[in-house]
Amino acid sequence: MAAGLSLEIIPRFVREQAVTTPYPEQPGERDHWIIARRVGRNPLDPFKPHAFLLEEERAESGEIVSVATIFLTNRECPWRCLMCDLWKNTLAETVRAGAIPAQIDHALARLVAADVSPRRASTGSCRVLTNAATRQIKLYNSGSFFDPRAIPPEDHEAIARRVAVFERVIVECHPALVGEPALRFRDLVEEARAWDGKPPSVLNVSMGSGTALTPALSLRRGRIGASAQPLTPFPVEPCPAKAGADGLGTKLELAMGLETAHPEVLEKLNKRMTLDQFRRAAEFLRRNGIALRVFVLVRPPFLHEVEALDWAGRSVDFAFDCGATVVSLVPTRFGNGALEELAGRGQFSPPKLPTLEAALEYGIGLKRGRVFVDLWDLEKFSDCPACVEQRRRRLHEMNLRQMVLRRVICERCGGRIR
Ligand code: SF4
Ligand SMILES: [Zn+2]
Repeated sequence: MAAGLSLEIIPRFVREQAVTTPYPEQPGERDHWIIARRVGRNPLDPFKPHAFLLEEERAESGEIVSVATIFLTNRECPWRCLMCDLWKNTLAETVRAGAIPAQIDHALARLVAADVSPRRASTGSCRVLTNAATRQIKLYNSGSFFDPRAIPPEDHEAIARRVAVFERVIVECHPALVGEPALRFRDLVEEARAWDGKPPSVLNVSMGSGTALTPALSLRRGRIGASAQPLTPFPVEPCPAKAGADGLGTKLELAMGLETAHPEVLEKLNKRMTLDQFRRAAEFLRRNGIALRVFVLVRPPFLHEVEALDWAGRSVDFAFDCGATVVSLVPTRFGNGALEELAGRGQFSPPKLPTLEAALEYGIGLKRGRVFVDLWDLEKFSDCPACVEQRRRRLHEMNLRQMVLRRVICERCGGRIR
């Protein structure tokens, strides 16, 4: 685990020295170098999530379901990954017990009000259930759900009660923190669900004032329950799916960042994780009936465009070999200061749109599980304003349908990597 440094405690002269030096070869020097390039965090309320939204996603069943995604406010992750900017929306201190359940209440009250249509039957292989009731929940905390300094373990039971109503509960975690706490949380969710099938108390909270939506996220995700409407009971219907040895049909899903299967690049990302460690954590989840979602970076630092596509494909292969049911492709983006610095040194460029398209085509073509590409800010990866919206629509459709659709032909750019 990293030393837990933050910008606030690094002496100024150390920061100034780090700013003028190349990216360190020595792992022990990298935290300083990365932190020295940061600007400040955003001010946050520990009792409100910093964002929440509804999104559509293709479920394991083939249906398109609505997913409530809550970005929890909590203490910063102890790792200092080279490409990470999630620290911007974190706190320097651990939140008090009760704050995380309060954040979930806050978001669910507003999201439930925004999405109240009845749940529909789950048959068929590809049914687009527009306005389907929200059936899955993601609790993303800009770090590890099972980091006790991020999410107080004494809150796990209260959290489980709040999310047990959903068919699938998705949390994120660094592989080093995957272990017994995940099993306890899995059991808490299952117990809460078996409790009596009634809506959890969270659904009876009264509406507070204002919203916790982050404008940037609301723009990038589109469909958000932003209005404070009267609270409507959430449609509750226990799901009969049981945990299987392969993690299919389970309630709990754990998302882990593989980032890349390129061993040298992975080491330089400062994630302090090896491919073996990732594999072992995935195997632990598989043995214990917890589904696995994997984040893969498209074009991490230190790779040129053609290599990046090759390694995105190899990383998807690796994720499926580890038992992933979902792989999420994330284009590496500027924004944390460190990547801007590497770009100035010729060690990083964000991926081009055709690379993202080809990576998604490859992943879907494998037919080993669902593969999605993150479409936020897609225009930043395109050199051609004439076709970017058409390309975005195509990728969105591919995310939902898990089919490789015909490529967009653009007379202006030809869709080539430039
Ligand atoms: S482990 Fe995840 S949240 Fe933590 S620094 Fe790395 S990428 Fe960011
Ligand atoms: Zn074009």
